[in-house]
Amino acid sequence: MSSSVKCNGHDRPVLIFCTVCDVAICDKCLTSKEHRGHPRSSLKDACEKQMADLAKSTKDLEGKMRKLGSVPALEPILTGLENNFTKSKDKINKLYKDLDVIVEENKKKALQLLDAMEKQLSDKLLDVEEKAEEIQQGMADISNDLQELENETDQNTADTLKQYKELEER
Ligand SMILES: [Zn+2]
Ligand SMILES: [Zn+2]
Repeated sequence: MSSSVKCNGHDRPVLIFCTVCDVAICDKCLTSKEHRGHPRSSLKDACEKQMADLAKSTKDLEGKMRKLGSVPALEPILTGLENNFTKSKDKINKLYKDLDVIVEENKKKALQLLDAMEKQLSDKLLDVEEKAEEIQQGMADISNDLQELENETDQNTADTLKQYKELEER
């Protein structure tokens, strides 16, 4: 069986197919050391086998592509991603809830503290008012005391003057 297809090594028409090297060879290849002892098949058989192999490969490839393109192959990955997102969202939600609670507690504490401070301050103001009254009372008392002292002094002075006059008159 002759062919227009040329052998790579010898530029001669290929005659037969070397099934070990998976290549069509010429008459020179046939007698060379390179393909000694290599099983061969006719070009027709080789072609048919190649076609069959190609058909099988295509079928396998189609199968693989169907598998890759199908939802079941991607589903576990997508489900995993979705779970991760859901977990992350839950975590963030919980975190924010925790933060809310903390903020709320802090707010309560801050308000309680402010209330306490306000009460303390008003107590202190009351204290100051009471003290002011006390001081005012004290001042009044002192004023009275001073007045009394003055009166007494006056009286004493008057008495002393009287005594002095009495002494003089003697
Ligand atoms: Zn050759
Ligand atoms: Zn060979």
